[in-house]
Amino acid sequence: MKEQISFDSLCVKEYQRNESTKPHQLPIYATSSFEFESLDQGIDIFTGKESGHSYSRYGNPTVDTVANKLAKMESFGTELEAYGFLTSSGMSAISTLMLSTLRQGDKVLTQSNLYGGTTELFNKVLTQLGIEPVFINMKDHDTIQQNIEKDPTIKMIYIETPANPTMACINIKWLANYAKSKNILTAIDNTFCTPIIQQPLSLGIDFVVHSTTKYINGHGNSIAGIIIGHKADYRKKIWNTLKLIGSTCNPWDAWLINNGVKTLALRMERHSSNAQSLAEKLEAHPNVGIVNYNGLTSHPDHELAKSQMKGFGGMLSFEINAGMEGALQLMNNLKFCSLAPTLGDVDTLVLHPASSSHLNVNKEIREANGIGDGLIRVSVGIESIEDIWSDINQSL
Ligand SMILES: *Cc1c(COP(=O)(O)O)cnc(C)c1O
Repeated sequence: MKEQISFDSLCVKEYQRNESTKPHQLPIYATSSFEFESLDQGIDIFTGKESGHSYSRYGNPTVDTVANKLAKMESFGTELEAYGFLTSSGMSAISTLMLSTLRQGDKVLTQSNLYGGTTELFNKVLTQLGIEPVFINMKDHDTIQQNIEKDPTIKMIYIETPANPTMACINIKWLANYAKSKNILTAIDNTFCTPIIQQPLSLGIDFVVHSTTKYINGHGNSIAGIIIGHKADYRKKIWNTLKLIGSTCNPWDAWLINNGVKTLALRMERHSSNAQSLAEKLEAHPNVGIVNYNGLTSHPDHELAKSQMKGFGGMLSFEINAGMEGALQLMNNLKFCSLAPTLGDVDTLVLHPASSSHLNVNKEIREANGIGDGLIRVSVGIESIEDIWSDINQSL
């Protein structure tokens, strides 16, 4: 080997790293692969004998660091050894979890008011693979028990609480205990609450999924998700599925999440206090009918929410008396709040389910789920509540 490499090679090769001091903030490891010291080390890392990274679809320092932090947050205060896997979206967290834990012939007991994408995932994708949903009212404990007693192919219970857009809650602790006694896995989509407000693992749930796109990132600039679990026997199964279907998160999105999470506790506090204040003002307004917010004593699940949540979060919905036409008019007259089909961003976002997220849902089914023509959903931001209220009030 020559002492000096040629000019062309100098261009190609990585240069001596100037890494003498530790970066204060997590770097973005934008690398698809990792170098081995020797062939033996490569084999040891691939076979799991030695810990280390090999290829970023299998794991990446930026991605893993953020996943571990979120797992620690979800299991904070418990003895559980939780693990986390960041995914390319909230939907891929849900689908990867299902594909890792269920097989052809298995059924999932779940609710009819799930996130729309999750309902479609069950109906259009998982059903084709022989994994079927059973949609029931998850507040009705007798119905849950009857379904489980009569159908041994139900292998998982999957829930969202509070559920969009009426903020209906499910008793997590009861469900987790009951499922455990029947050897059935439990999973929850904790996107609306984040671990700041609700920690389902501490109440006995097996798996938590998030769309980190929403509150966890909080700034509306990345799409990603996470699966968090604590059952050791599923850790490898989930990792295997994730790396083989390739639903992994990339380091850039992981880094954005890491940035966002630093203010999560502060944000959730402000989202909650702003939402409480807005809910009370709306409830007192003559043009407004029902207001769905867990923090209102008028909400049917207020006591249950209080018992399993720390604070009530930033999501609410309300029905305006003027119906469809009035709702559309209100939406179009907003000047400060944004009309955007997402939630959990730092700014206030308003959505009209009947003309957007539930446009293709049959009107009777929609109304049976509490989504009338005049229902408006608000993801209450962390701006000054005076500005939020001033805009909604002028529009009302
Ligand atoms: C947005 C959302 C999802 C899907 O997440 P993506 O990041 O868009 O894939 C799942 N569940 C809930 C409750 C959501 O709000």
